[in-house]
Amino acid sequence: SSGPTAQIGVTGLAVMGSNLARNFARHGHTVAVHNRTAARTRSLVDTYGEEGTFVPAESAEEFVASLEKPRRIVIMVKAGEATDAVIEEFAALLEDGDVLIDGGNAHFQDTRRREKALRERGIHFVGTGISGGEEGALNGPSMMPGGSVESYTSLGPLLESIAAKADDGAPCCTHIGPDGAGHFVKMVHNGIEYADMQLIGEAYQLLRDVAGYSPAQIADVFRTWNTGRLDSYLIEITAEVLSHVDEATGKPFVDVVLDQAEQKGTGRWTVQIALDLGVPVSGIAEAVFARSVSGHSDLRDASRHLTGPTPRTLGTNEAAAFADQVEQALYASKIVAYTQGFHEIAAGSEQYDWNIDLGKVAAIWRGGCIIRAAFLDRITSAYEAQPHMPSLLADKSFAQEIAAAQDDWRSVIATAVTQGVPTPAFAATLAYYDSLRAERLPAALTQGQRDYFGAHTYHRTDREGTFHTLWGGDR
Ligand code: NAP
Repeated sequence: SSGPTAQIGVTGLAVMGSNLARNFARHGHTVAVHNRTAARTRSLVDTYGEEGTFVPAESAEEFVASLEKPRRIVIMVKAGEATDAVIEEFAALLEDGDVLIDGGNAHFQDTRRREKALRERGIHFVGTGISGGEEGALNGPSMMPGGSVESYTSLGPLLESIAAKADDGAPCCTHIGPDGAGHFVKMVHNGIEYADMQLIGEAYQLLRDVAGYSPAQIADVFRTWNTGRLDSYLIEITAEVLSHVDEATGKPFVDVVLDQAEQKGTGRWTVQIALDLGVPVSGIAEAVFARSVSGHSDLRDASRHLTGPTPRTLGTNEAAAFADQVEQALYASKIVAYTQGFHEIAAGSEQYDWNIDLGKVAAIWRGGCIIRAAFLDRITSAYEAQPHMPSLLADKSFAQEIAAAQDDWRSVIATAVTQGVPTPAFAATLAYYDSLRAERLPAALTQGQRDYFGAHTYHRTDREGTFHTLWGGDR
């Protein structure tokens, strides 16, 4: 053969891997392709060979030999043990300075472990978050690579070439930070995605039950919202889903789908890690719990007899005014959900010394990924103006927008509560907002109780030091 020619290799050619390989090829890169089961490799080249230059390999050795040095190999296999097995197989064949990229949905702690082990063997391991699903992998995903700065010198331009481009043309890919930083940021991205979806779901439920709108009417409302500050991929597809009619029954699609949401785990990880880091991500947590509640059909069946109000449907004019209020509520809650997510990234960055640029994170989510939205530009500007803001709510323009939205925000949640429409994420984000702005929190009482039953001590507002009260009574 004629020696190594491929700039990048992709191993694991299920839907994500094949689409990424095709994306690289379509951008003029020579792509080595490999899969445990060779039939997939052959099928990719047979079906899409004309899109670019592929170098198919049946064995790992042949695959590695086809790559220019430093070798760059993207692993797109099942997360977990399969990833470890594939890493081991290739690490044995690589040399100092080669770059091994894991594009799967790995837990960032696994990525930290793998990066450390491979670094000791002279190999750069780059855990990379990839968002945008199959479509993104093919046409431009948002990419969140971690790993060494040095690895990004060699890998960055290749990734940036296939990443989505934001409206200003900037690639939706940046070096996030060392070791597990990329997978951590991808995890929080998914947590925010859960919150965004839940908030949209609550808005939908209110428009359905309180405004009395049909799914088609609600689709129109979302289309209107999508021309304003809520302009985003999720709002856009929500309108599409709501206007879709089930062919078999002629009913709105949303009415024939079982109302039990599933999850793959990244939302749950976001909340688990937030608990470990002590970061209040209540909006994201409620979104994860809401999926969990929906899935407990046994609990729900056993609870249908419980009493509560039945929502009253508004008249036409009132309904239109209410829909406008729901837009305000959705926007305010969305700002808070993102605030919580960015707080978690800042806390992770601090804990693991990642030095993550929060403004850049918002910037690479503008295209390719599920939470892409016009609004992300604003988050980037906010962090550019104040990189060390303790919270996104410290940004003046977001604070002003919430100030303007909050009467409606409160009124929508009050309506939901009095009418018995569950809005856990709306309510949790408002409670977070009110907790942060409160002059005094009942935490002082909590400290008193802790000191009473456990002599846990407390601090005072007026003096330095640690105090314990000798509580009276015969305890
Ligand atoms: P997948 O169904 O998760 O995995 C299938 C691939 O893994 C096949 O190529 C399979 O090879 C390979 N594989 C499994 N076990 C293996 C082992 N022990 N050794 C070698 N290869 C093994 O594929 P996917 O849906 O394309 O996803 C790939 C990764 O991307 C996953 O980590 C997933 O979480 C992540 N991801 C997926 C999406 C999405 O929208 N699907 C989005 C973002 C990220 P064989 O053909 O030989 O079985």
